[in-house]
Amino acid sequence: VKRIGVLTSGGDAPGMNAAIRAVTRVALNSGIEVFGIYDGYKGMVEGYIEPLTKASVGEIVDRGGTILGSARLPEFKDVEVRAKAVTQLKKRGIEAVVVIGGDGSYRGALALTEMGINCIGIPGTIDNDIVCTDFTIGFDTALTTVVEAIDKLRDTSNSHHRCSIVEVMGNRCGDLALWSGIACGAEIVITSDTGFEESEVLERLRDLDLIKKKRHAIVVISEKITDVHQFAKKVSLNTGFSGRATILGHVQRGGAPTPSDRILASRMGEKAVDLLMQGIGGQCISIRENQIVSVPIEEALVMPRTSRKPLQNLFERLV
Ligand code: ATP
Repeated sequence: VKRIGVLTSGGDAPGMNAAIRAVTRVALNSGIEVFGIYDGYKGMVEGYIEPLTKASVGEIVDRGGTILGSARLPEFKDVEVRAKAVTQLKKRGIEAVVVIGGDGSYRGALALTEMGINCIGIPGTIDNDIVCTDFTIGFDTALTTVVEAIDKLRDTSNSHHRCSIVEVMGNRCGDLALWSGIACGAEIVITSDTGFEESEVLERLRDLDLIKKKRHAIVVISEKITDVHQFAKKVSLNTGFSGRATILGHVQRGGAPTPSDRILASRMGEKAVDLLMQGIGGQCISIRENQIVSVPIEEALVMPRTSRKPLQNLFERLV
């Protein structure tokens, strides 16, 4: 392979730039030319494609977001739209592409591979919702941001006999909530794995107030589970705590990537280029038990999620 492309797609995540840099530098150092494809599959279809040099990926390893931009293009599911993308790539002699993104982006990468453009997926999302990998790029940074925020909320709720209900991202994956709950010493964690029984949570809060005499309580809850402002009102009405909801929102997506995310991104970028050099496509990169491995995308998309029970149990034993 002589020329490859790299793009970021779906939601952005800190560490994507470190992955772009790794793909670019490893490829250039192996004598392969690299093209940046801007705005995900949208730029691929529209031909927004520019060569990358070692210098153009300089000074980005520490920057959040993605210098290539990201976009969603639902029409990429249509074979005619993808055919336009393939034409744009062929026009420039680009034979293979590294796709940094989530599950949806992987589906696009697989579809392109089936049309003759070898693609390798790299997991870039703060949600840690890609089943085949222990960690996605951006999760550690988002976790750090969430932990910092909850630590601050704890200080203030302590002073006011308050129950802070903190909604964190995760796109139906409870990892950000559970991990931050453990790291911050939250009183209650609610995720799609734990389920949400409102009356039971209120009962637990009454118990924390009346029996355990807690001065404050932190409830960490995953997004897309309930309206946290409504729930906070119910906490105020039904327990001795004053309930306050905080939705952390998009701050969780930003910031400089942590060293762990930068290193993970660099290791994964290297592996992606190595696979393309071997003429392999249709795979995605994972970290499992601290080894960087690859998995066929077809398999990755149907893999069952590993159980979070051990960490959930740990959380309960720490309360
Ligand atoms: P995140 O986890 O941050 O949402 P994602 O990669 O899952 O990231 P999606 O919006 O699901 O985000 O997908 C990104 C893009 O991938 C879509 O906008 C579309 O261009 C492409 N894509 C998604 N599904 C398919 C598919 N079945 N076939 C071809 N392309 C797809």
